[in-house]
Amino acid sequence: MLGQMMNQPLLISSLLVHAERHHGDREIVTRRPEGDIHRSSWRKIAQRSRKLANVLEGMGIAASQRVATLAWNTDRHMELYYAASGAGMILHTLNPRLHPDQLIWIADNAGDQVIFFDITFLPLIEATAARYATVKNFVLMSDRAHMPADSKIPNLHCYEDLVEAASDAYDWPQIDEDLASSLCYTSGTTGNPKGVLYSHRSTVLHAFGSVMPDALNLSARDAILPVVPMFHVNAWGLPYAAALTGAKMVFPGAAMDGKSLYELFEEEGVTVSAGVPTVWQGLLGHTEANNLTFSTMRRTVIGGSACPPAMLRAFDEKYNVQVLHAWGMTEMSPLGTVCTLKAGAETMTADERFATLSKQGRAIFGVDMKIVDEDGNELPWDGKTSGELLVRGPWIVESYFNRHGEDTLRFDAAGLGWFPTGDVSAIDANGFMQITDRTKDVIKSGGEWISSIDLENIAMGHPGVAMAACISAHHPKWDERPLLVVMAKPGAEITKEDVLGFFDGKIAKWWLPDDVVFVDAIPLGATGKMQKNKLREQFKDYALP
Ligand code: ADP
Repeated sequence: MLGQMMNQPLLISSLLVHAERHHGDREIVTRRPEGDIHRSSWRKIAQRSRKLANVLEGMGIAASQRVATLAWNTDRHMELYYAASGAGMILHTLNPRLHPDQLIWIADNAGDQVIFFDITFLPLIEATAARYATVKNFVLMSDRAHMPADSKIPNLHCYEDLVEAASDAYDWPQIDEDLASSLCYTSGTTGNPKGVLYSHRSTVLHAFGSVMPDALNLSARDAILPVVPMFHVNAWGLPYAAALTGAKMVFPGAAMDGKSLYELFEEEGVTVSAGVPTVWQGLLGHTEANNLTFSTMRRTVIGGSACPPAMLRAFDEKYNVQVLHAWGMTEMSPLGTVCTLKAGAETMTADERFATLSKQGRAIFGVDMKIVDEDGNELPWDGKTSGELLVRGPWIVESYFNRHGEDTLRFDAAGLGWFPTGDVSAIDANGFMQITDRTKDVIKSGGEWISSIDLENIAMGHPGVAMAACISAHHPKWDERPLLVVMAKPGAEITKEDVLGFFDGKIAKWWLPDDVVFVDAIPLGATGKMQKNKLREQFKDYALP
């Protein structure tokens, strides 16, 4: 017997309809790439998204065709999120930090019909416009005053002119919730980037999951500033979660430096933020140097790579800001685990609390996980045994875009399909998961695993270390041994002995890096993560002492 409840599809447009109706006056504030601070609201965003939907249809873009963006975190970018997906097209967020050749490869692979771009990327589009195979129109996301006088870009339009001229009469189509809504390519540290094609259903369920109290704990009283780019897994879903809750949104545009971010935090009463650890390093550098505190910020989500425990402690003890350490992947929309404490934590000592909070956290409802050995046997949750992490759930990828039929999932004895994350982790008896490595970064010394993340976390706690990456170097006896690559803080005079001495008593002796090399900079990828593959290449012939 079927249930007798309404069968309404879970659609991205319904998030916007809700925000307009129930939180219409709630502000959306943007530091636009043109430099001004622009104030909008959920009502205006909804009205302009309907106009944009008419614009997109007027361009001849059909259902399920791809609408690409090359843009920072702004109100206009969010309008495109809702207009394209809401109208049944697929929003494709391009990552402007990629090399132009890779960008063009991705746009071609996706079959993008139009590219909406911020003024920052005008030179890039000028240089590459002729090379996109499927793009028919280009739209500069600005007003008439910022349009170039003479441009070689074919079919170049002005965003504000298009919006101005369009009607705001538009009824969001009631489509199948399983239809594709947006597309995001993984940064592709190995091989060509792979497209992850989200659906309306997966996106709305992920939004529900992410706002829960033990997840990101978002509400109508929050003002959210996503530092994580909207071209990186949809800014971790925050534009959707904000509409679902009616939160205020504050967009930093292109200005991601500590000073600009801090100004916005304070002036706009930001309560929650989210970003990768490298971003917070810049922000904390600014607050420390200028003796500043946060007057409204209460929580920040840190993920994308491991949050160094020293950073977690600084936020908590110096700034009274709760760090929500989170783990996920492009393939997971991205949220998998968030680290919040369970009942009974009141009796923990500060050290115990920070040790738990440094873990990547507990699975939120909607994500199931397990760890397995090399033969696929499930491993115990004892906090010590580590193995490859597998996940499953309604917002986790089943197969990559344009690659149906390829083996994305691994099926277990029960016939269940699991997505292999490529991460190595341990899970403790309370369900707290801790990433020890990525399968390709793990250091295998004499057949035993050494966690590069653990060694990096400790090194980054040294007051003179700005950033540290641990990679494997070839060793004649042990096969691989850890080599620590360190970027010192400006002005810090540190030696190899200082750094190695800092590990004393913190790790098993055989984990101690065999050597430390100092570099001026550690290469960062397009999403702000350390590119250990580049370092491995650079130091592939390194002779350990
Ligand atoms: P890519 O795999 O292309 O870098 P993602 O941005 O989707 O793309 O990165 C997902 C990976 O980032 C995870 O598989 C994991 O290795 C790493 N990661 C994400 N969050 C964390 C975290 N909190 N701690 C450690 N690693 C993390």
